Amino acid sequence: MRRDQVQSYLVGGVNSPVRAFRAVDEEPLVVARAEGPFVYDEEGRRYLDFIGGWGALILGHAHPAVVEAVENAASRGICFGLSHPGEEELAERIAAAFPWIDRVRLVNSGTEACMTAVRLARAVTGRTLCVKFEGCYHGHADGFLVKMGSGGATLGLPSSQGVPSEIAGTTVVLPYNDEGMVRRLFAEQGEEIAAVIVEPVAGNMGVVPPRPGFLETLREETRRWGALLIFDEVMTGFRVSRDGAAGRFGVWPDLLCLGKIIGGGLPIGAVAGPAEIMDLLSPAGPVYQAGTFAGGPVVCAAGNVTLRVCDEEDVWALLERLGRVLDRHLSSLEGVSYVRCGGMWSLFFLEGGAPLDFQEVQRQDSAAFARFHAVLRSRGILAPPSAYEAWFLNTAMDEALLEEAARTIREEVEEARRG
Ligand code: PMP
Repeated sequence: MRRDQVQSYLVGGVNSPVRAFRAVDEEPLVVARAEGPFVYDEEGRRYLDFIGGWGALILGHAHPAVVEAVENAASRGICFGLSHPGEEELAERIAAAFPWIDRVRLVNSGTEACMTAVRLARAVTGRTLCVKFEGCYHGHADGFLVKMGSGGATLGLPSSQGVPSEIAGTTVVLPYNDEGMVRRLFAEQGEEIAAVIVEPVAGNMGVVPPRPGFLETLREETRRWGALLIFDEVMTGFRVSRDGAAGRFGVWPDLLCLGKIIGGGLPIGAVAGPAEIMDLLSPAGPVYQAGTFAGGPVVCAAGNVTLRVCDEEDVWALLERLGRVLDRHLSSLEGVSYVRCGGMWSLFFLEGGAPLDFQEVQRQDSAAFARFHAVLRSRGILAPPSAYEAWFLNTAMDEALLEEAARTIREEVEEARRG
């Protein structure tokens, strides 16, 4: 019997849906420990880990400097629920990477960050509608659970039960990378739109970068109509470059959502932006937001040391070098589409070039991906357990490891396509 079918006190055997490995019809991987680029299962088998804490672990697992910082911080007190210097330092480090940011609010997850950003946008504009894009994932707050990516895409759920239609109705969903639809929506309903929220490089339907002009159009239309542009960089922030997708593509949003990397592997999220918007948040302003654990000493210690090491070692240049190893082996593969943006990448079992939106992504051969996933797993490579998730690089990997992995991937792509 599969482990996730055994009677468990955990719902579905897991605490987050993708971990059940249902999309690839496998048993969940139960991790005993992890170090550097590897995770180890309970039987001691070793896997090269391309999940990397879903992108949180830019320095790999159990990086010694992060572990030391966490231990030191914990020994001085795990939870204060009060101010401490580490949170100011983390906010400063974030602001240093994004020069248009004056204020940062630390929260406990990417979900909270996106939820708070939309609440702020509604407060600023006095409007209700939030525009999102099909296949993008912004966490599991009610309004975002409409045609979302990540676990939602994997499970083939167009939405979720338990979300009142009145709330789902405040979200308008458009196809990713479709400038024409954005312009049309604004022309028809521009005065009702509070915010456009977007993954500026989509990562939750596999990696789908923005087409030239897409982000610029979002910037232009939101500005013209007085709506706020929110970049959800929970995955891309400090990953596709030091200043995220915003910096990489030179388009600056009004609000930025961060998470994952800035917590060094511990739970975190952040909303950031200019003072005139951010100072609407409580206690400075009338938009309520709070958190017992927000900006706690241990997560801030992990985040601070992670961002410090990232700067000292220029990890983005390193990830680019590692990425080029994959490019050499995988970009010419037949019958699949390999897409990489900095330290995140995807392989779609799809002919005809890189997909531009969720509909195109859905044409991929998920059964071939599932076969591919299982064989890679048996050969010690842990790919994300869904064709709709990104693969992540980290600096604990090296060129030799990636050469070997890319060769294995090449071989198994051919096999999986044959069926
Ligand atoms: N936004 C994006 C772009 C994400 O990738 C995720 C998580 N994968 C979230 C929001 C939600 O973050 P969390 O799981 O920390 O709530």
